[in-house]
Amino acid sequence: MDTIIVKVNDVKKDYNYIEQAGNIIKAGGLVGFPTETVYGLGADALNEEAAAKIYAAKGRPSDNPLIAHISNISMLDSLVTEIPPKAKVLMDKFWPGPMTLIFNKSEVVPKGTTGGLDTVAVRMPDNEIARGLIEAAGTPIAAPSGNLSGKPSPTIAEHMIDDMDGRIDMIIDGGMVGMGLESTIVDMTCEPPMILRPGFITKEMLDEVIGEVEYDKAIFAKPDENLKPKAPGMKYRHYAPSGDFSMYDGDEKKVVSAIVEAATSKLKEGKSVGVITTYQHYDYFKEIEQLGAQVITIGDESRLETIANNLYKVLRDFDKKGTEFIYGETFREDDLGKAIMNRLTKAAGYNIISV
Ligand code: AMP
Ligand code: MG
Repeated sequence: MDTIIVKVNDVKKDYNYIEQAGNIIKAGGLVGFPTETVYGLGADALNEEAAAKIYAAKGRPSDNPLIAHISNISMLDSLVTEIPPKAKVLMDKFWPGPMTLIFNKSEVVPKGTTGGLDTVAVRMPDNEIARGLIEAAGTPIAAPSGNLSGKPSPTIAEHMIDDMDGRIDMIIDGGMVGMGLESTIVDMTCEPPMILRPGFITKEMLDEVIGEVEYDKAIFAKPDENLKPKAPGMKYRHYAPSGDFSMYDGDEKKVVSAIVEAATSKLKEGKSVGVITTYQHYDYFKEIEQLGAQVITIGDESRLETIANNLYKVLRDFDKKGTEFIYGETFREDDLGKAIMNRLTKAAGYNIISV
């Protein structure tokens, strides 16, 4: 299949492309498009055959449900059996935005979209291209992240093209996404509501508007603890670079020397080595950079949103370079740090070394 690739700078000026993409969705096709979190791979959420194409294009396991994206609240009414009062409060506060809510699904949502579940995940994105596309398609758009299953989520169109060129009908290049991490998922079918995936909207922000919210304990458990996450997608190895990625945790000085030591020994074996660091710590790794390590600065430690923004791009950059061994430091787990460490821990296959 030839994938149509278009650049949209301005939704109004480039409306012909949005309309074209909307028609593809209406006809049961697949479109890659930007949202404020990551790039999504969209199809008509109410068309089971179209949703099946998403699974095929991504190589996604069929029990891993999709998120339905809506552009206005009236679209939600048809998808769910009821909207709990706390969900209304959250929607008022955080939609449009990086928050996905789980509801009991209505008859119109096919199980092909929900991975066989009786619940449906819904989000109203805060990105003009995404919302324009949903409006143009006239239907909720089922869209998981636009990467091949297991790979880091796309944060620029180039990543989508790398993974999906030739596999889908169209890709809309809307530049770099604003946030770079997938939405926070909150299950509203239980009491108290439960966070199934941490993201930009933190537990503290949710607690503040609806009282206590709890975490699905499986999110932070290791696979060998055998806890089953409520969001089926959270059980899969995810976000992983091709190289062997380890993270070091502990006292700053000890972490730095452990990384330098591990990296130096791999360089001596003739391996290609990458180090993920921050603006604050870059100087510590200048020496091994001179020995040939690829040292990449992921962001500013004091502004975790910069780290979220660059995370997947850094992992993909190492893939492009074919880096065999990647070393990184852990981050503090307050606020956004929880979401960042959740993704990094999975990317590293739980390979975190305490020093
Ligand atoms: P992605 O954004 O590509 O990571 O995919 C959507 C995520 O939402 C996956 O982790 C799914 O497991 C999760 N999800 C979607 N629908 C549901 C649902 N009905 N119940 C629980 N989790 C869901
Ligand atoms: Mg994904």
